[in-house]
Amino acid sequence: MNVNQFNVQSLEVWLSTDSMMLTKFAIALLVSAQALRLAQKPSRCSTRLQSNAAPAEEIERRRNLAIISHPDAGKTTLTEKLLLYGDAIQQAGMVKARANGRSSTSDFLKMERERGISISSTCLTFEYGASRVNLMDTPGHADFSEDTYRTLSAADNAVMLVDGGKGLEPQTRKLFGVAQRSRLPVFTFVNKLDRPAMSPWEVLDEIAAEFGLETAVRTWPIGDGERFRGVLDVESDQVWIYERGARGDKASVTKIDYADEAAVAAAVGDEELVAQLAEDREMIAELTPALDDELLKTGAMTAVYFGSAMSDAGVEPFLDEFISLGSRPAPRTLRARKAEDERRQLAPTGDEFAGYVFKMQANLDPKHRDCMAYVRIVSGKFTKGMKVTHARTGRPLTLATAAMLFGSGKDTIQDAFPGDIIGLNNPAGGLFQIGDALHSGAAAVAFEPIPSFSPECFGYLRPSEVGASKKSFQKGVDQLLAEGAVQRLKQRGSGDGEDPLLAAVGELQFEVVVDRMQGEYGVACAIERVSYTIARWAQPELSPEDAWAVVDRARGEGALTGVFFAEDVFQRPVLLFRNQFTVDRLENDADLDLGLKPWALPPANAP
Ligand code: GDP
Repeated sequence: MNVNQFNVQSLEVWLSTDSMMLTKFAIALLVSAQALRLAQKPSRCSTRLQSNAAPAEEIERRRNLAIISHPDAGKTTLTEKLLLYGDAIQQAGMVKARANGRSSTSDFLKMERERGISISSTCLTFEYGASRVNLMDTPGHADFSEDTYRTLSAADNAVMLVDGGKGLEPQTRKLFGVAQRSRLPVFTFVNKLDRPAMSPWEVLDEIAAEFGLETAVRTWPIGDGERFRGVLDVESDQVWIYERGARGDKASVTKIDYADEAAVAAAVGDEELVAQLAEDREMIAELTPALDDELLKTGAMTAVYFGSAMSDAGVEPFLDEFISLGSRPAPRTLRARKAEDERRQLAPTGDEFAGYVFKMQANLDPKHRDCMAYVRIVSGKFTKGMKVTHARTGRPLTLATAAMLFGSGKDTIQDAFPGDIIGLNNPAGGLFQIGDALHSGAAAVAFEPIPSFSPECFGYLRPSEVGASKKSFQKGVDQLLAEGAVQRLKQRGSGDGEDPLLAAVGELQFEVVVDRMQGEYGVACAIERVSYTIARWAQPELSPEDAWAVVDRARGEGALTGVFFAEDVFQRPVLLFRNQFTVDRLENDADLDLGLKPWALPPANAP
């Protein structure tokens, strides 16, 4: 109860005594108390209310991360343990149980459940102490690198999860390459130490040699496999020894200062491991670099942790340190009007709300056939019901509802701040596109577009049954394409009624499209592959007419035999090739001046 409420209520009690005098006096007092209360209420037109700036403490407490890993490295298990330690769930396994006993809350689409892989990225939000963590899931397969890259564009930190028994695996390598393009701070968690593992020194060497990263050791394993006992926390110089809890409960942990050697020896209970720990501890101090915040923030150094997500070991010290070291919501680069203009940044502390759509997903809830646009808030405060401008069309919008996600469950939210991800309903997949900016201020905002990956698989999507619903087919194609699941090309000169020519980064993307067309839109489809494997945009910065003129000139000179001529949704020329040799030859031919690019950003004036 605030002071004003208290005063008014006590006066009301007082009024119930029956004296006229007192009543008059009391009414006068009540009126003045009410007047005082109104006077204290900020007026509607005060500048404070109009400002959409985010409070500094809300920005400061947000941590945002995306996990990248090879399938089976333990991302789902680690995610679940982070939720467990964040008290977002009471028992590990709860979310798994809810999603059919096969997978956690974070991979919920049917195909993901069946195959046990994460295809789409979702965002889970939980409180940890005074902080709020936004955890973004990314697909564990390189065929979905593009989706991963978009998610990383919305993240401020990456966590690279490595299977301690296997070290760096092909998908870790590919996805790390994607993360490096985003220049994010990378935290490495080496998992499954409760199984026979590689020497931790070998893992560090691999990371340093293959990724060119400096490795700052933050926790270190004590034993592995059956003999795995816990970790040394380098910063506090404490040993954390774990005992498994009852099924699903947190493991119990005993923390002992390393200086208390007798206690450490007793807790580890294995002379050989104690001696190994002493040796490793010295080597860490002498041979590995200390953590350098600047290098970490710029992605030149990774902070490395060891543990076992399954038995909780090392999860808590990792999460604690991530909270203290992880990047706060970072500014995002604004799109320059001209290529030569200096790039400006939009800071989270801006006076107005601004954010951009980085991902789209149809049929999150199969019962409602909805399409969700995920928006990363870059600056200012989002408030339910606020009015914003949809930058691409200039349309005013009222954001009446926004959802924050906990896997397939959606909670409506009242407000959100920089670093948060909100889900906005995208009616029939029609309003938002990936890259769209929203802003509350009068000044238009456009962010640097999210780069694409060059497609390597091409094929026509066709209904495989006679009499399939044209309407459902078209709707499915439109929604899945709006999600950016695959790109749509068209053979040059073909009519609008042609079956779409799809372009994907990897084979699995096609499988997902076919699967979802059947499962979500009821149209059995097949992909008829065309035998090209490389795509190059020709002069994508020119107008389509000028770019085609360049292509036609080269064609007239006989330089483009065997090339498939396609156009993208902006009518720009896309040339498809069967081999790298032809691409190299054309790229090296300065006279032709084809300006070949492996991908192209949407044009600045895209509709
Ligand atoms: P994801 O594909 O990366 O999401 O991996 P999951 O979390 O689904 O894990 C793959 C398999 O590894 C599952 O059988 C997990 O139970 C198991 N696993 C995950 N973490 C650990 C761990 O720390 N130790 C052991 N022994 N198994 C683990």
